[in-house]
Amino acid sequence: MLSSLTIEVTTGFGVAAGLGLVAGGCAYAAMWPGSQLFGRLLTAPARPGELALTFDDGPNPAWTPQLLEMMSEQSVRATFFLVGSRAQSEPALVRRMAAAGHLIGNHSWGHPNLALASAGRIQEELYRTSQTLEQITGTTVRYFRPPFGARRPEVLRAARRLGMVPVLWNAMTSDWKNPAAEAIAERLMRKIDRLERRGFAANIVLHDGSHMDATANRAPSVAAAAQLITHYKESHQFVTVDAWDICKD
Ligand SMILES: [Zn+2]
Repeated sequence: MLSSLTIEVTTGFGVAAGLGLVAGGCAYAAMWPGSQLFGRLLTAPARPGELALTFDDGPNPAWTPQLLEMMSEQSVRATFFLVGSRAQSEPALVRRMAAAGHLIGNHSWGHPNLALASAGRIQEELYRTSQTLEQITGTTVRYFRPPFGARRPEVLRAARRLGMVPVLWNAMTSDWKNPAAEAIAERLMRKIDRLERRGFAANIVLHDGSHMDATANRAPSVAAAAQLITHYKESHQFVTVDAWDICKD
């Protein structure tokens, strides 16, 4: 799923941050060959021991509240990539997310495959979502995850024009197909542990919503997230993806 180029860029971020080169780090990152081709693209840096839980396709009024409650009890913050049209329908839930300190990102307005969309449509999908999220939370949206991971250059360019950094992932399993929570958690733990042996942080995707069904049953994904938190809480640090952005203000 990851190209070697992506790994190169994200390794660069990790090395830069690790060496304390944060001041001027953006110029440093721009010197990496991958970043000249793709621009900034955030996956996960070379910081083993750090985990970012990210949740896509919400907000989902049926399951996001339970997820927020569980994370509040555990004092863990996560990153939510929201579908704009769903956020518009659930502003109170989005505000609750933001008030709890979770990071909110843009996941397009209607979750189309942007690799197949016109430049105008891409711009509209991203702009409308950022506008809506900013109206609801009063906070600028800095991160974008393309639906289905579609990384056509025009998609990445549109995100950057709106001031957002595209964010991918490096640990995913098909939690949206609704298997048992234990199976989801075990598969993700294997990936997380493998990434750690290779020296990388884990950018973990789970789904609290569904682009097909506004109130999809996400009980297994929520339970899997709870299992991951219980398993790693003592030994690892849970972060939001902005912690890995060396160009952040
Ligand atoms: Zn999605």
